[in-house]
Amino acid sequence: MLEKNNLLGFTQQQLNEFFSQIGEKPYRTRQLMQWVYHKEVYNFNDMLNLSKNLRSKLCSLASLDLPKVSKQNFASDGVIKWLLDLGCNNQIEMVYIPENDRGTLCISSQVGCSLACTFCSTGMQGFNRNLKTEEIIAQVVIAKQYLSDNNKNISNVVFMGMGEPLLNEKAVFDACNILLDDMAFGLSRRKVTISTSGVVPALIRMAQKTPVSLAISLHAPDDELRDILVPINQKYPIKSLLEACNNYLNSGDQQRHILIEYVMLDGINDTFEHANKLVKLLKGMPTKVNLIPFNTFEKTQYKTSKTATIKHFQDILHKSGIRTMTRRTRGEGVDAACGQLAGKVIDKSNRSLKNNGRN
Ligand code: SAH
Ligand code: SF4
Repeated sequence: MLEKNNLLGFTQQQLNEFFSQIGEKPYRTRQLMQWVYHKEVYNFNDMLNLSKNLRSKLCSLASLDLPKVSKQNFASDGVIKWLLDLGCNNQIEMVYIPENDRGTLCISSQVGCSLACTFCSTGMQGFNRNLKTEEIIAQVVIAKQYLSDNNKNISNVVFMGMGEPLLNEKAVFDACNILLDDMAFGLSRRKVTISTSGVVPALIRMAQKTPVSLAISLHAPDDELRDILVPINQKYPIKSLLEACNNYLNSGDQQRHILIEYVMLDGINDTFEHANKLVKLLKGMPTKVNLIPFNTFEKTQYKTSKTATIKHFQDILHKSGIRTMTRRTRGEGVDAACGQLAGKVIDKSNRSLKNNGRN
């Protein structure tokens, strides 16, 4: 049987094409998007301003199916973690992090990750497959449904869950298009962030293809250390990564800046020398540095830097004029902090032939 088109994965333009192919007028796109994204109706038969004939056509050709929520965990600090079942033993996680002035949803882009960063629980599990656009959008839909029932709202979406978004660029860029579209989620480009460990060719394409914000998982100020912590650095070293960052900063019609993520690993990347090297590297770039205390998980060899060390590191950056903040660890009781996300993954990456970036 032919698989039905899941319309949650369609951008506005793709919906126009879809309706044109089935002999319908373009205004059907607006009607459908209103039902789905504004009225949260997912059953074609309840979309009353569509003709009966169109409703039955949609039922036979298309779907708006959402994956099953297999678990929902609530941390004491308001963080919520969902485990979604994508079938065939694939699971992904997403996390909602409420703060005073915003509510951030952290979503996944892949089942697992092939890049094997040594401090990351997702990376340690291996990789199974890319998510489809509809599976990315479904995460936002499911969270939004729950949150709006509880008077909470999603102001920001970050691709900081499981997976490397720039190794799934087509689906991720289409999902960004839907997140920004006023007829769908209507988020501003500053409120949607792609976080990458540095897949340089895809980063260069990203600068042209989507106007969303960028976060770079740097984690080390020189190639020698970064080659170990973020192995894709062996393929795309820091110099090429920073060139791609400068290209991003100079593209687009609005002023851009970059968030630099730096995980704080005790005795590994957190010394005075590392801080000074980082200052040299970032001097003059419009960046903000986010220091992330390492979140521990089973079988890891790393430890979190001491609080005083993190403060000292932050002070060095600050004094050199680099905007720096330390990320507060959230969602700890439910393993929902950065790098702890680990739904079930059937590893197909063949770790012995480590696949560092397939672009
Ligand atoms: N693959 C992308 C996005 C997902 S990871 C990337 O690497 O950027 C999201 C962020 O969490 C990244 O900055 C990542 O380096 C960080 N991270 C991974 N494991 C972590 C851990 N155990 N503790 C703290 N941060 C971690
Ligand atoms: Fe993949 Fe990001 Fe984890 Fe590295 S930090 S293994 S790129 S998810």
